[in-house]
Amino acid sequence: MSLLVTNARILDPAQGLDSPGSLLVVDGTVAAVGPDAAKDPRAAGAETLDAGGKVLAPGFIDLHVHFREPGQGRKETIETGSKAAVAGGFTTVCAMPNTKPANDSVAITEMMLTRANKAGLCRYFPIGAVTKGLAGEELADFGTLKDAGCVAFSDDGLPVMNSEVMRRALEYTAWLKVPVVAHEEDKHLSGKGYMHEGAVSASLGCLGIPSAAEEAMVARDIVLAEHTGGHLHLAHISTAGSLRMIREAKARGLNVTCEVTPHHFALTDKELRRFDSDYKMNPPLRSEADLDAVLQAIADGTVDAIATDHAPHGWDDKEVELPIAAFGVIGLETAFPLTLALLVNTGVISLSKAISLLTWEPAKVFHLDEQGLGTLKPGSPADFTLLDLDAKIQVDRAFIQSKSYNTPFKGWELPGKVVGTWMGGTRVWG
Ligand SMILES: [Zn+2]
Repeated sequence: MSLLVTNARILDPAQGLDSPGSLLVVDGTVAAVGPDAAKDPRAAGAETLDAGGKVLAPGFIDLHVHFREPGQGRKETIETGSKAAVAGGFTTVCAMPNTKPANDSVAITEMMLTRANKAGLCRYFPIGAVTKGLAGEELADFGTLKDAGCVAFSDDGLPVMNSEVMRRALEYTAWLKVPVVAHEEDKHLSGKGYMHEGAVSASLGCLGIPSAAEEAMVARDIVLAEHTGGHLHLAHISTAGSLRMIREAKARGLNVTCEVTPHHFALTDKELRRFDSDYKMNPPLRSEADLDAVLQAIADGTVDAIATDHAPHGWDDKEVELPIAAFGVIGLETAFPLTLALLVNTGVISLSKAISLLTWEPAKVFHLDEQGLGTLKPGSPADFTLLDLDAKIQVDRAFIQSKSYNTPFKGWELPGKVVGTWMGGTRVWG
């Protein structure tokens, strides 16, 4: 079984590759890539596909999705989430453990992996809970969960409020060489808030979540990462102050990485003037100055990954008063078009850097590079996506493959169509 994709613009930041060329896949693995790949003797007799000059990149890697299974399959299943992933060009997703029950056991991890394999669309890596039942008190059994397939640990959706528990989590995971992914929110400071605390929340009379709720915890966990030597990965960072501390921590050589979401580089708290719960997520949309800081941090290398925090919710969770509506938005299908439109076409970063933030850099954060993911180096799994930078997409119900439709980008027209996606050399989208 071999496939030769010709006439592509091959873009693989891990190899510093951005040139016209071909990709040769043999038995699900990259056999050759680049300007001379078509001349490889193994290309003889291969099925061929003319890419028509489109961009061929490694399949994207999302460090942060919520696929809701087990427990809330009405919002998303592992199968429908996988479909949304490949439609967005993602061939690898890392799934948060705040399912019902939470993924704090080998049984749940194995059940998730079984369902992901059955769906067979993308690679699925579970993230195990930091604490049993996400209760914030007793540590989960990291060693057995890692052996079962967990690639990181997080109580995402909730912070680990107890500093001693967080300290031990960073110590134990340091031995296992896996990251702790922190959802940074001081619950006492965020209280009952449901949007960013600032001039807009004050003018609307809405309860706010101050930037300090995130920043106080980022500060604490950087201190604990330094103290323990553990790898701290900071999820969905949203404020200028957090990014300033992360930049400084990295400059001092600490084992700290971070991700940002497309909605935090696309939107601000002004959107809440619509009182539409599609703009309600946690952390909330922040101020213009915070958005500018996110762009700056993406440009200067402070940010390691673009992650979606894909968080599906049904209409019944969202079509209620803003204070009681669920937090969260979907994001897999819109991530690349938003990255192209708002980061690349505006000149914040190059296309190659954008692809890097969706492939090689996130791969390194969770050590998925050790499995050959996030690159098209020969010998790697043939996970790739074909992107038409000029074709426009329209965000409507038909475009979204997720079971849920809680996107703040309804009606948006954006450049950057995912024409096709392949996992292990098999076409899974397009
Ligand atoms: Zn979170």
